Amino acid sequence: MNKKYYGKVVYDLSHPGRRGYSLPQNNLGDGLAQIPSDLLRTEAPRLPEIDEPSLVRHYNNLSTNNFGVDTGFYPLGSCTMKYNPKLNEELCSLPQWQGLHPLQPAETVQGALHAYHALGKALCEIGGMGAFTLNPYAGAHGELTGLMVIRAYHESRGDGKRTKVIVPDSAHGTNPASAAVAGLKVVEVKSLPDGTIDTEALRGLLDDSVAAVMMTNPNTVGIFESSIPEIAEMVHACGALLYYDGANLNPLLGIARPGDMGFDVMHINLHKTFSTPHGGGGPGSGPVGVRKGLEEFLPSPMVAEVEEGPFGATYKVVRPEKSLGRISAWLGNFAVELRALAYILSLGRDGLMLAGPLATLNANYVKESLRHLYKLPIDRVCKHEFVFDGLADKSTGVTTLHVAKRLLDHGFHAPTIYFPLLFHESLMIEPTETESIETLDDFIAAMEEIAREAASDPETVKNAPLETPVRRPDDTAAALEPKVSYFDL
Ligand SMILES: *Cc1c(COP(=O)(O)O)cnc(C)c1O
Repeated sequence: MNKKYYGKVVYDLSHPGRRGYSLPQNNLGDGLAQIPSDLLRTEAPRLPEIDEPSLVRHYNNLSTNNFGVDTGFYPLGSCTMKYNPKLNEELCSLPQWQGLHPLQPAETVQGALHAYHALGKALCEIGGMGAFTLNPYAGAHGELTGLMVIRAYHESRGDGKRTKVIVPDSAHGTNPASAAVAGLKVVEVKSLPDGTIDTEALRGLLDDSVAAVMMTNPNTVGIFESSIPEIAEMVHACGALLYYDGANLNPLLGIARPGDMGFDVMHINLHKTFSTPHGGGGPGSGPVGVRKGLEEFLPSPMVAEVEEGPFGATYKVVRPEKSLGRISAWLGNFAVELRALAYILSLGRDGLMLAGPLATLNANYVKESLRHLYKLPIDRVCKHEFVFDGLADKSTGVTTLHVAKRLLDHGFHAPTIYFPLLFHESLMIEPTETESIETLDDFIAAMEEIAREAASDPETVKNAPLETPVRRPDDTAAALEPKVSYFDL
């Protein structure tokens, strides 16, 4: 990053008369005269005037002002900001895919339908489910779709009084939000001090007004919930369904399957677990899987395999009668689906089964290396992520926010902070399976350095970041009074 460009917008680099382009001569002839005069500009637009090298440098420098997983370690908990192989980007960008139109006749897009179908089948195998739709655009959208399937199921049985969804207090914020958008009432169930769900409290909440219980496993503090089979039995005994938030499925890949644990409906974030870069708002994909018996409620369109012919299977696009209908424009974010399929096929069974052990090893390595300096409220073997409750020594007044900001000066993105809400100073770290031991050691060294500095020079830590292009943005002003134009309009 070239400091000369910090904080500049392209207008700041403008000089009258400079040009970075050459356009062909106006060859409209008297075509211009035919445009009604009240539609013609009277003044030239206020565009920046700049030479091409300055423009190229400006935008390239601007692109490195932002932190990305391609520029550094990004241990954002509950987000799986992992490095994704560039091969998958290349495969999904092939012109053969790019040129397709969703409304082309099925017989002309058999390869694309095959890819959709093959990914659905692979996800069924991975999740232990009966069928998958790939149509939802994100995790939250998948949750909404899954809850709509659950509603459709209860309604199909004439069971209209199920209006509640039970969600643990550690759940990702999208869980209660999706339940509310689906028109259901959210009831929270507490976690025990060890971070797992309070099974007895849950038992007390179950009755015939409950439509579903939503759970994440490993849960949002990275702990494996080992009482799921017992919970599934309780939930099913009261007539409700058990929903699995599989946004971060990497710790379980090929090792345990939500379907085998007793979950009825689940979603997966392809943009966390299956090789689509994420952050910055998209694009994503949140496929939803259901156990056998619930397939008919999935959204349409769906891709169905037609009987095997002499030249292999063929595929068609179908809209089953009981389907809850459209939840997205067509068959989802197809390029994200292609990346996921390419990822699964290139890693293969053995490669996929390494993701969980490596993610788990990396998280526990970082946790154990730093626990003497940071407070570890849940002292157990974690899966892919874990939570510190701020610095162990709180006497200096250095908070989780300060630690997170100081990490930026060390060239690391901050972990997730102040989430989950179970602890005051949550610092949630997810290293992911793709990081090398050298990267983890550098991160551990930076965290140690910050803890030492908090004791010796707390003011420096409290004023961080000192080295970044933008230091402390005013989040509130940015939301309430956004400046979206260079000029005062
Ligand atoms: C990220 C995440 C979600 C939401 O996914 P989006 O694609 O951001 O909507 C839901 N649950 C968990 C556990 C997550 O980590």
